[in-house]
Amino acid sequence: MEDRLVEQFGAFSLSRLPADKTTSIVRIDNPSASKQSTATSSEIGSEHTPATSVPSTSPSSPCNIGSTSTVPTADIALSPLDIDETAVPSNPPGVSEDETEESCCEVRETAGKGQGLFATRSIKAGTLVFKESPLINLSRQEEKSSKSIKAAFHALDRTQKKVYKALFDLQKGDVDPVVGIYYSNCYSTDAFAIEGSDDPLAHGGSCIGALASRINHSCVPNVCLFYVPPTDPDKPAEMHFYAFRPIAKGKEILSNYNKHMFNGTKKRQQIFLHQYGFTCSCEACVPPSAFWAKSDKRRGEMRKLIEELAGLEQEWEKHNASSPRPEIVRRPIAALVALESLLVKEKLIDRPLRNVYKSLAKWTVRAGEVPRTWLEKELAVTVLISGKGSRWSLTLDGELRRQA
Ligand SMILES: [Zn+2]
Repeated sequence: MEDRLVEQFGAFSLSRLPADKTTSIVRIDNPSASKQSTATSSEIGSEHTPATSVPSTSPSSPCNIGSTSTVPTADIALSPLDIDETAVPSNPPGVSEDETEESCCEVRETAGKGQGLFATRSIKAGTLVFKESPLINLSRQEEKSSKSIKAAFHALDRTQKKVYKALFDLQKGDVDPVVGIYYSNCYSTDAFAIEGSDDPLAHGGSCIGALASRINHSCVPNVCLFYVPPTDPDKPAEMHFYAFRPIAKGKEILSNYNKHMFNGTKKRQQIFLHQYGFTCSCEACVPPSAFWAKSDKRRGEMRKLIEELAGLEQEWEKHNASSPRPEIVRRPIAALVALESLLVKEKLIDRPLRNVYKSLAKWTVRAGEVPRTWLEKELAVTVLISGKGSRWSLTLDGELRRQA
Protein backbone atom coordinates (compact mmCIF):
# COMPACT_ATOMS: atom_id res chain seq x y z
CA MET A 1 0.00 0.00 0.00
CA GLU A 2 2.67 2.44 1.02
CA ASP A 3 4.74 2.00 -2.13
CA ARG A 4 1.69 2.57 -4.29
CA LEU A 5 0.80 5.73 -2.37
CA VAL A 6 4.34 6.92 -2.66
CA GLU A 7 4.27 6.40 -6.42
CA GLN A 8 1.01 8.26 -6.72
CA PHE A 9 2.08 11.28 -4.74
CA GLY A 10 5.81 11.21 -5.25
CA ALA A 11 5.98 11.35 -1.52
CA PHE A 12 9.68 11.96 -1.48
CA SER A 13 11.70 14.55 -3.27
CA LEU A 14 14.22 11.99 -4.30
CA SER A 15 15.06 8.59 -3.09
CA ARG A 16 17.88 6.20 -2.91
CA LEU A 17 17.17 2.56 -3.37
CA PRO A 18 15.66 0.94 -0.31
CA ALA A 19 17.78 -1.56 1.55
CA ASP A 20 15.63 -4.40 0.28
CA LYS A 21 17.12 -3.87 -3.17
CA THR A 22 20.52 -4.76 -1.79
CA THR A 23 21.85 -8.25 -1.77
CA SER A 24 22.38 -8.52 1.95
CA ILE A 25 21.10 -7.31 5.27
CA VAL A 26 22.46 -3.89 6.07
CA ARG A 27 25.11 -3.93 8.76
CA ILE A 28 25.51 -0.79 10.80
CA ASP A 29 29.17 -0.23 11.50
CA ASN A 30 29.05 3.16 13.09
CA PRO A 31 25.66 4.80 13.22
CA SER A 32 27.01 8.04 14.59
CA ALA A 33 29.39 8.45 11.68
CA SER A 34 27.13 7.81 8.74
CA LYS A 35 28.23 8.67 5.23
CA GLN A 36 31.72 9.04 6.58
CA SER A 37 34.31 8.07 4.05
CA THR A 38 38.03 8.06 3.74
CA ALA A 39 37.90 10.63 0.96
CA THR A 40 39.71 13.89 1.33
CA SER A 41 39.02 17.06 -0.59
CA SER A 42 42.21 16.70 -2.58
CA GLU A 43 41.25 13.22 -3.79
CA ILE A 44 38.11 14.59 -5.38
CA GLY A 45 39.44 17.78 -6.87
CA SER A 46 40.66 17.10 -10.38
CA GLU A 47 40.20 18.71 -13.74
CA HIS A 48 38.67 15.48 -15.00
CA THR A 49 36.19 14.99 -12.19
CA PRO A 50 33.75 17.02 -10.13
CA ALA A 51 35.74 19.31 -7.87
CA THR A 52 35.01 19.94 -4.22
CA SER A 53 34.19 23.52 -5.14
CA VAL A 54 31.59 23.23 -7.84
CA PRO A 55 32.50 24.79 -11.17
CA SER A 56 30.11 27.16 -12.87
CA THR A 57 27.19 25.62 -14.61
CA SER A 58 25.64 27.16 -17.64
CA PRO A 59 22.05 28.34 -17.62
CA SER A 60 19.54 25.84 -18.88
CA SER A 61 18.19 26.00 -22.39
CA PRO A 62 16.15 29.04 -23.44
CA CYS A 63 12.61 28.95 -22.24
CA ASN A 64 9.44 30.34 -23.67
CA ILE A 65 7.99 31.09 -20.26
CA GLY A 66 8.79 34.78 -20.31
CA SER A 67 8.23 37.52 -17.79
CA THR A 68 4.86 38.22 -19.38
CA SER A 69 3.70 34.73 -18.52
CA THR A 70 0.84 34.37 -16.09
CA VAL A 71 2.79 31.77 -14.13
CA PRO A 72 2.44 32.71 -10.46
CA THR A 73 6.07 32.10 -9.65
CA ALA A 74 6.10 34.35 -6.62
CA ASP A 75 3.29 32.69 -4.69
CA ILE A 76 4.77 29.24 -4.62
CA ALA A 77 4.55 29.01 -0.84
CA LEU A 78 1.05 30.43 -0.59
CA SER A 79 -1.86 28.23 0.23
CA PRO A 80 -5.53 29.09 -0.03
CA LEU A 81 -5.79 27.88 3.54
CA ASP A 82 -4.32 29.27 6.70
CA ILE A 83 -0.53 29.22 6.68
CA ASP A 84 1.57 28.46 9.74
CA GLU A 85 3.71 31.57 10.02
CA THR A 86 6.40 29.65 11.86
CA ALA A 87 6.83 27.30 8.92
CA VAL A 88 6.67 29.62 5.93
CA PRO A 89 8.82 32.69 5.29
CA SER A 90 6.80 35.91 5.64
CA ASN A 91 7.96 36.93 2.19
CA PRO A 92 7.75 33.81 0.04
CA PRO A 93 10.68 33.83 -2.34
CA GLY A 94 10.24 34.24 -6.04
CA VAL A 95 11.85 31.89 -8.46
CA SER A 96 15.33 32.94 -9.36
CA GLU A 97 15.39 34.61 -12.78
CA ASP A 98 18.73 33.14 -13.68
CA GLU A 99 19.87 29.67 -12.96
CA THR A 100 23.29 29.13 -11.48
CA GLU A 101 25.99 31.14 -13.22
CA GLU A 102 28.68 30.75 -10.63
CA SER A 103 29.73 28.22 -8.07
CA CYS A 104 27.42 28.28 -5.07
CA CYS A 105 28.39 25.20 -3.06
CA GLU A 106 31.35 23.21 -1.80
CA VAL A 107 32.08 19.95 0.01
CA ARG A 108 33.06 20.34 3.66
CA GLU A 109 33.62 18.04 6.60
CA THR A 110 30.66 18.01 8.99
CA ALA A 111 30.42 17.24 12.67
CA GLY A 112 29.45 13.56 12.87
CA LYS A 113 28.06 13.15 9.34
CA GLY A 114 31.20 12.74 7.28
CA GLN A 115 31.27 15.12 4.35
CA GLY A 116 28.42 17.37 3.28
CA LEU A 117 27.61 20.02 0.71
CA PHE A 118 27.34 23.65 1.85
CA ALA A 119 26.17 26.92 0.28
CA THR A 120 29.06 29.29 -0.37
CA ARG A 121 26.63 32.14 -1.02
CA SER A 122 22.97 32.89 -0.52
CA ILE A 123 20.92 30.70 -2.89
CA LYS A 124 17.47 31.73 -4.11
CA ALA A 125 14.60 29.26 -4.48
CA GLY A 126 14.55 27.94 -8.04
CA THR A 127 18.33 28.03 -8.45
CA LEU A 128 20.14 25.18 -10.16
CA VAL A 129 22.62 24.48 -7.35
CA PHE A 130 24.73 22.16 -9.50
CA LYS A 131 24.51 19.61 -12.26
CA GLU A 132 26.71 16.67 -13.08
CA SER A 133 26.79 13.59 -15.29
CA PRO A 134 26.28 10.40 -13.30
CA LEU A 135 29.34 8.26 -12.66
CA ILE A 136 27.07 5.24 -13.20
CA ASN A 137 23.56 5.26 -14.65
CA LEU A 138 21.54 2.03 -14.73
CA SER A 139 18.17 0.94 -16.07
CA ARG A 140 15.56 -0.74 -13.86
CA GLN A 141 16.77 -4.11 -15.07
CA GLU A 142 20.47 -3.35 -14.58
CA GLU A 143 20.17 -1.81 -11.12
CA LYS A 144 19.09 -5.16 -9.66
CA SER A 145 22.23 -6.88 -10.92
CA SER A 146 25.58 -6.79 -9.09
CA LYS A 147 27.17 -7.86 -12.37
CA SER A 148 25.81 -4.78 -14.17
CA ILE A 149 26.99 -2.46 -11.38
CA LYS A 150 30.48 -3.96 -11.47
CA ALA A 151 30.61 -3.80 -15.29
CA ALA A 152 29.63 -0.11 -15.19
CA PHE A 153 32.33 0.54 -12.59
CA HIS A 154 34.99 -1.20 -14.69
CA ALA A 155 34.06 1.04 -17.64
CA LEU A 156 35.03 4.17 -15.63
CA ASP A 157 38.43 5.77 -16.14
CA ARG A 158 41.06 5.69 -13.39
CA THR A 159 40.18 9.05 -11.88
CA GLN A 160 36.47 8.27 -11.86
CA LYS A 161 37.15 4.93 -10.17
CA LYS A 162 39.14 6.71 -7.47
CA VAL A 163 36.31 9.20 -6.89
CA TYR A 164 33.76 6.36 -6.81
CA LYS A 165 35.73 4.23 -4.36
CA ALA A 166 36.04 7.17 -1.95
CA LEU A 167 32.24 7.36 -1.57
CA PHE A 168 30.43 6.12 1.52
CA ASP A 169 29.75 2.38 1.77
CA LEU A 170 27.09 1.55 4.33
CA GLN A 171 27.52 -2.18 3.85
CA LYS A 172 31.26 -2.37 4.30
CA GLY A 173 32.36 -5.98 3.98
CA ASP A 174 28.94 -7.57 3.48
CA VAL A 175 28.91 -7.16 -0.28
CA ASP A 176 31.45 -6.20 -2.93
CA PRO A 177 32.41 -2.56 -2.14
CA VAL A 178 31.55 -1.46 -5.70
CA VAL A 179 28.01 -2.79 -5.21
CA GLY A 180 27.78 -1.53 -1.61
CA ILE A 181 28.80 2.00 -2.63
CA TYR A 182 26.24 2.01 -5.44
CA TYR A 183 23.32 1.05 -3.19
CA SER A 184 24.50 3.42 -0.44
CA ASN A 185 24.49 6.47 -2.70
CA CYS A 186 22.33 5.99 -5.80
CA TYR A 187 19.25 8.07 -6.58
CA SER A 188 16.11 6.59 -8.08
CA THR A 189 15.25 7.93 -11.54
CA ASP A 190 11.84 6.23 -11.69
CA ALA A 191 9.95 9.52 -11.40
CA PHE A 192 11.63 10.87 -14.55
CA ALA A 193 10.67 8.15 -17.02
CA ILE A 194 9.80 9.29 -20.55
CA GLU A 195 7.00 7.32 -22.13
CA GLY A 196 7.82 6.04 -25.60
CA SER A 197 11.58 6.63 -25.36
CA ASP A 198 13.84 4.05 -27.01
CA ASP A 199 16.51 4.48 -24.35
CA PRO A 200 16.24 2.08 -21.37
CA LEU A 201 17.83 4.80 -19.22
CA ALA A 202 14.73 6.94 -19.82
CA HIS A 203 12.43 4.38 -18.22
CA GLY A 204 13.52 4.66 -14.59
CA GLY A 205 16.29 2.94 -12.70
CA SER A 206 18.96 4.72 -10.72
CA CYS A 207 22.20 6.67 -10.94
CA ILE A 208 25.07 7.80 -8.75
CA GLY A 209 26.89 11.13 -8.90
CA ALA A 210 30.18 12.16 -7.31
CA LEU A 211 28.87 15.39 -5.84
CA ALA A 212 25.29 14.18 -5.40
CA SER A 213 26.65 11.47 -3.10
CA ARG A 214 27.96 14.17 -0.74
CA ILE A 215 24.49 15.58 -0.04
CA ASN A 216 23.27 14.56 3.42
CA HIS A 217 19.67 13.79 4.35
CA SER A 218 17.00 15.96 5.96
CA CYS A 219 13.28 15.30 6.49
CA VAL A 220 12.92 19.02 5.70
CA PRO A 221 15.16 19.15 2.61
CA ASN A 222 16.06 22.22 0.57
CA VAL A 223 17.14 20.66 -2.76
CA CYS A 224 15.76 17.94 -5.00
CA LEU A 225 16.94 15.97 -8.00
CA PHE A 226 15.73 16.50 -11.54
CA TYR A 227 17.13 13.72 -13.71
CA VAL A 228 17.59 14.38 -17.43
CA PRO A 229 17.84 11.11 -19.38
CA PRO A 230 20.37 10.83 -22.21
CA THR A 231 18.96 12.24 -25.44
CA ASP A 232 21.58 10.75 -27.78
CA PRO A 233 25.01 9.08 -27.52
CA ASP A 234 26.73 12.49 -27.46
CA LYS A 235 24.41 13.90 -24.80
CA PRO A 236 24.71 11.77 -21.66
CA ALA A 237 22.26 11.90 -18.76
CA GLU A 238 22.52 14.71 -16.22
CA MET A 239 21.61 15.03 -12.56
CA HIS A 240 20.31 18.52 -11.78
CA PHE A 241 19.82 19.67 -8.20
CA TYR A 242 17.45 22.59 -7.66
CA ALA A 243 17.00 24.60 -4.47
CA PHE A 244 13.24 24.70 -3.92
CA ARG A 245 13.63 26.83 -0.80
CA PRO A 246 16.12 29.65 -0.24
CA ILE A 247 19.41 28.51 1.34
CA ALA A 248 21.43 30.99 3.39
CA LYS A 249 25.19 31.30 2.88
CA GLY A 250 27.00 28.69 4.98
CA LYS A 251 23.96 26.43 5.43
CA GLU A 252 24.04 22.77 4.47
CA ILE A 253 22.45 21.62 1.21
CA LEU A 254 20.16 18.70 2.06
CA SER A 255 17.93 16.25 0.22
CA ASN A 256 15.40 13.66 1.35
CA TYR A 257 16.67 10.08 0.99
CA ASN A 258 13.61 8.10 1.82
CA LYS A 259 10.00 7.51 0.97
CA HIS A 260 8.78 7.22 4.57
CA MET A 261 8.45 10.93 5.14
CA PHE A 262 4.84 10.70 6.32
CA ASN A 263 5.76 8.46 9.25
CA GLY A 264 6.32 9.95 12.69
CA THR A 265 9.79 10.81 13.97
CA LYS A 266 10.25 7.57 15.92
CA LYS A 267 9.52 5.33 12.95
CA ARG A 268 11.55 7.49 10.57
CA GLN A 269 14.58 7.29 12.87
CA GLN A 270 14.27 3.49 13.05
CA ILE A 271 14.23 3.35 9.25
CA PHE A 272 17.21 5.71 8.90
CA LEU A 273 19.23 3.66 11.36
CA HIS A 274 18.34 0.37 9.70
CA GLN A 275 18.62 1.42 6.05
CA TYR A 276 21.25 4.15 6.12
CA GLY A 277 23.08 3.79 9.43
CA PHE A 278 22.37 7.25 10.88
CA THR A 279 19.88 9.13 13.00
CA CYS A 280 18.47 12.31 11.51
CA SER A 281 19.00 15.61 13.32
CA CYS A 282 16.78 17.85 11.20
CA GLU A 283 14.26 20.31 12.61
CA ALA A 284 11.42 17.79 12.19
CA CYS A 285 13.33 15.12 14.15
CA VAL A 286 15.02 16.93 17.02
CA PRO A 287 13.18 18.76 19.82
CA PRO A 288 12.49 21.30 20.99
CA SER A 289 11.18 23.75 18.42
CA ALA A 290 7.75 25.03 17.37
CA PHE A 291 8.22 23.24 14.05
CA TRP A 292 9.15 19.91 15.68
CA ALA A 293 6.17 20.13 18.06
CA LYS A 294 3.72 20.20 15.13
CA SER A 295 5.58 18.08 12.60
CA ASP A 296 4.53 14.57 13.68
CA LYS A 297 0.86 15.53 13.84
CA ARG A 298 0.99 17.17 10.41
CA ARG A 299 2.76 14.18 8.83
CA GLY A 300 0.23 11.80 10.41
CA GLU A 301 -2.63 13.88 8.97
CA MET A 302 -0.97 13.83 5.55
CA ARG A 303 -0.63 10.07 5.66
CA LYS A 304 -4.33 9.66 6.48
CA LEU A 305 -5.32 12.03 3.66
CA ILE A 306 -3.15 10.14 1.16
CA GLU A 307 -4.71 6.83 2.20
CA GLU A 308 -8.17 8.33 1.91
CA LEU A 309 -7.36 9.69 -1.56
CA ALA A 310 -6.17 6.26 -2.71
CA GLY A 311 -9.54 4.84 -1.63
CA LEU A 312 -11.45 7.65 -3.37
CA GLU A 313 -9.49 7.03 -6.57
CA GLN A 314 -10.42 3.33 -6.48
CA GLU A 315 -14.04 4.25 -5.84
CA TRP A 316 -14.00 6.62 -8.82
CA GLU A 317 -12.51 4.01 -11.12
CA LYS A 318 -15.06 1.46 -10.00
CA HIS A 319 -18.25 3.51 -10.06
CA ASN A 320 -17.79 6.84 -11.76
CA ALA A 321 -15.50 6.58 -14.75
CA SER A 322 -18.33 5.42 -17.02
CA SER A 323 -21.13 7.50 -15.52
CA PRO A 324 -19.54 10.40 -13.64
CA ARG A 325 -21.34 11.98 -10.72
CA PRO A 326 -19.81 15.42 -10.18
CA GLU A 327 -20.75 15.50 -6.49
CA ILE A 328 -18.32 12.65 -5.82
CA VAL A 329 -15.32 14.92 -6.56
CA ARG A 330 -15.96 17.27 -3.64
CA ARG A 331 -14.31 15.10 -0.99
CA PRO A 332 -11.07 14.38 -2.93
CA ILE A 333 -10.69 18.05 -3.81
CA ALA A 334 -11.17 19.02 -0.16
CA ALA A 335 -8.65 16.34 0.91
CA LEU A 336 -6.11 17.54 -1.64
CA VAL A 337 -6.49 21.18 -0.58
CA ALA A 338 -5.92 20.10 3.04
CA LEU A 339 -2.86 18.13 1.91
CA GLU A 340 -1.53 21.15 0.05
CA SER A 341 -1.78 23.26 3.21
CA LEU A 342 0.01 20.64 5.34
CA LEU A 343 2.82 20.21 2.80
CA VAL A 344 3.39 23.97 2.74
CA LYS A 345 3.49 24.07 6.55
CA GLU A 346 6.02 21.21 6.57
CA LYS A 347 8.07 23.08 3.91
CA LEU A 348 7.73 20.06 1.58
CA ILE A 349 7.03 22.22 -1.43
CA ASP A 350 8.76 20.13 -4.08
CA ARG A 351 7.56 16.99 -5.88
CA PRO A 352 4.84 16.03 -3.36
CA LEU A 353 3.26 19.49 -3.77
CA ARG A 354 3.56 19.28 -7.56
CA ASN A 355 1.74 15.95 -7.50
CA VAL A 356 -1.00 17.36 -5.28
CA TYR A 357 -1.63 20.12 -7.87
CA LYS A 358 -1.56 17.50 -10.63
CA SER A 359 -4.23 15.51 -8.75
CA LEU A 360 -6.28 18.65 -8.09
CA ALA A 361 -6.27 19.39 -11.83
CA LYS A 362 -7.37 15.80 -12.56
CA TRP A 363 -10.28 15.89 -10.10
CA THR A 364 -11.32 19.35 -11.31
CA VAL A 365 -11.60 17.99 -14.86
CA ARG A 366 -13.66 15.10 -13.47
CA ALA A 367 -15.96 17.71 -11.94
CA GLY A 368 -16.42 19.15 -15.43
CA GLU A 369 -14.55 22.34 -14.58
CA VAL A 370 -11.48 24.04 -16.06
CA PRO A 371 -8.32 23.17 -14.05
CA ARG A 372 -6.31 26.23 -15.06
CA THR A 373 -5.65 27.49 -11.51
CA TRP A 374 -4.21 24.15 -10.44
CA LEU A 375 -2.17 23.76 -13.62
CA GLU A 376 -0.66 27.21 -13.02
CA LYS A 377 0.27 26.22 -9.49
CA GLU A 378 1.69 22.93 -10.75
CA LEU A 379 3.78 24.85 -13.26
CA ALA A 380 5.06 27.22 -10.56
CA VAL A 381 6.31 24.26 -8.49
CA THR A 382 7.63 22.49 -11.59
CA VAL A 383 9.72 25.53 -12.56
CA LEU A 384 11.05 25.66 -9.02
CA ILE A 385 12.19 22.01 -9.00
CA SER A 386 13.27 21.49 -12.60
CA GLY A 387 13.95 24.90 -14.18
CA LYS A 388 12.01 26.97 -16.71
CA GLY A 389 13.40 25.06 -19.68
CA SER A 390 12.84 21.50 -18.42
CA ARG A 391 10.64 19.14 -20.40
CA TRP A 392 8.22 19.06 -17.46
CA SER A 393 7.89 22.87 -17.44
CA LEU A 394 7.65 23.20 -21.22
CA THR A 395 4.98 20.49 -21.49
CA LEU A 396 2.86 22.13 -18.81
CA ASP A 397 3.37 25.60 -20.25
CA GLY A 398 2.23 24.27 -23.64
CA GLU A 399 -0.87 22.78 -22.02
CA LEU A 400 -1.73 26.13 -20.40
CA ARG A 401 -1.21 27.99 -23.68
CA ARG A 402 -3.56 25.60 -25.44
CA GLN A 403 -6.20 26.28 -22.79
CA ALA A 404 -5.79 30.07 -22.98
ZN1 LIG B 1 14.78 14.31 10.11
